[in-house]
Amino acid sequence: MSQIPFVDLHAQYLSIKNEIDAAIENVIKSSNYIGGEPVKLFEKEFADYLGIQNVEACANGTDSIEIILKALGIGSGDEVIVPAISWISTSEAVSSVGASPVFVDVDENTFTINANLIESKITSRTKAIIPVHLYGQPAEMDKIMSLSKKHKLFVIEDCAQAHGAKFNNQMVGTFGIASSFSFYPGKNLGAYGDAGAIATNDKNLAEKCRLIANHGQLTKHHHVIEGRNSRMDGLQAAILSVKLKHLHKWTVARQRAAALYKKIISAKSNILIQQSFPNSEHVYHLFVVRVKNRTEITKRFDEQGIAWAIHYPKALPFLGAYQHLNFSSSDFPVAAQITGEILSIPMYPELSEVQIEKIGALLF
Ligand SMILES: *Cc1c(COP(=O)(O)O)cnc(C)c1O
Repeated sequence: MSQIPFVDLHAQYLSIKNEIDAAIENVIKSSNYIGGEPVKLFEKEFADYLGIQNVEACANGTDSIEIILKALGIGSGDEVIVPAISWISTSEAVSSVGASPVFVDVDENTFTINANLIESKITSRTKAIIPVHLYGQPAEMDKIMSLSKKHKLFVIEDCAQAHGAKFNNQMVGTFGIASSFSFYPGKNLGAYGDAGAIATNDKNLAEKCRLIANHGQLTKHHHVIEGRNSRMDGLQAAILSVKLKHLHKWTVARQRAAALYKKIISAKSNILIQQSFPNSEHVYHLFVVRVKNRTEITKRFDEQGIAWAIHYPKALPFLGAYQHLNFSSSDFPVAAQITGEILSIPMYPELSEVQIEKIGALLF
């Protein structure tokens, strides 16, 4: 095992063991395995946390994007704008509903979708934009929202990496018509299995999403449409309710770790860090640097037992899944360039100052 892991989920569990164990025991005692009170409670608590009217729990973050797209009636023949750098779920969900993802290059400083390039990709078939708040850093929401108004497009925020992040002092997930969240274990708010949620201020849309996620049932055996099975289970909901109470403290710890990394890195001219927009709050799901000598650095990390990762080694348009679109690096020059240089270094709330200094010393 690494001397410094990439994330330390076990350390986090130990810090809240009593609360978690009690919550799990409660669910088992009540046999609320799927849906039920624990899920309703978490939906309410997460809605309050975001300051939004409706949260609909579902099975995972990929489903949450897909269900929103379906509920908005987006499908065959439609185009949806997505960033060139994200986890594949963002574009996969678009294809899953029968629509086509249209990739837009990212900004070289913030690594989020380059809002200035969006307009040139809008056609008469464009229905929505899915900005991704990448690594915990909000996308440029003011420009994206004004473009969406001008062209009458839906904005669906992919908040899988950005629970609690803010743009212009406003919580991400509250800008667009709806937003999607993942509670995959390693996310900033992570369950002990798969889980996801949809957040929206639109009551009708929320109801439509709930219908789709639960076999189109309004009430039991009353199927008004064909939906699917995308339910959150009670154990995950109860665990998430416990962890939500600690999220703010953990976010502050991540931000503190990031500030220390930045202080160390500011003295090194060959390393670039992900830039933030003014008045925005990055929640550091990941701490990503841009370096020219990645192979050398990762070799040093390996020798010292320090875990590292690359998010992501290939930009979406260049994945095998999109080979048929025949893109070349000149189509997405920034994404093509930075995927060869980005490096994710350990980032989690329990990371100590000593560990950060040890990691920082190897970045040169
Ligand atoms: C994790 C992630 C998802 C998908 O979440 P799952 O719960 O794993 O399905 C979607 N988008 C982004 C940007 C992610 O990081």
